Amino acid sequence: MPELPEVETVRTVLIPYLVEQKISDTIVNLPKILKNITPQDFQTKITGQTITNFTRRGKFLTLHLQNQDCIVIHFRMTGTLTIENADIPPEKHTHIILNFTNGKSLRYIDSRGFGHWWYFNKNQEDTSGQLLLGPEPQNVTLKYLQQKFKNRQCPLKSALLDQHIIAGIGNIYADEICFRAQILPTKSVAKLSEPELQRLVAQIPTVINEFIQIHRVPFEVFAISKGKSYQKSTNRAVYGRKGLPCEKCGHPLTGIRIGQRSSVFCEHCQK
Ligand SMILES: [Zn+2]
Repeated sequence: MPELPEVETVRTVLIPYLVEQKISDTIVNLPKILKNITPQDFQTKITGQTITNFTRRGKFLTLHLQNQDCIVIHFRMTGTLTIENADIPPEKHTHIILNFTNGKSLRYIDSRGFGHWWYFNKNQEDTSGQLLLGPEPQNVTLKYLQQKFKNRQCPLKSALLDQHIIAGIGNIYADEICFRAQILPTKSVAKLSEPELQRLVAQIPTVINEFIQIHRVPFEVFAISKGKSYQKSTNRAVYGRKGLPCEKCGHPLTGIRIGQRSSVFCEHCQK
């Protein structure tokens, strides 16, 4: 599932190709992706509109339109976006296409088809869920975590995955953050000491920013894989490395399930 760094990659790679582009028409091949509008209404609303900005909040992306309406996109499990020349036949699983007057098209590809698009008029309340998100990882403070974790009994891993506490962290980066902060993902958040919380506050933005940098690719590289290869992340210390030696101590990494999510950690380095 794409997490904040992967979603941010899509945004930074595509934004130069989207801003100031005028939409000539749309094709919706899988209407269920549109959460709050019919394909016909969507077509009517956006034809002739110009995109003014492309922003991200947590794992949500927003295309801002010149009349101040907006399109909010969430990739869920397997969604992604890419830009193609409009005359190139669409890839399998291309569910929504926005054609631009410059001959290019924005394509939404999603093999499992679980992603969501919403359309909001300028005065309409955004019901996508992004208004309920916690702060971005870069804005998490010690005071904030102390207050959020004080009376909560859940494991650290589950708290990191809770989008209402911190926006944008998923299974991969939650494991990486716990490893870097040297805290067991199973540890109850109410029991975290102040030094442990300080390590978390330091590592949450560091890990996310590092992976944003690692994922940064030129458009040409991004386009070859139809926007999909950015999800194959290297440089992970723990996620996907169950049984392999810890990079710090050599001890084999442990894999368990926490709240139905696979989790990998080092019993030796994380306390
Ligand atoms: Zn270790």
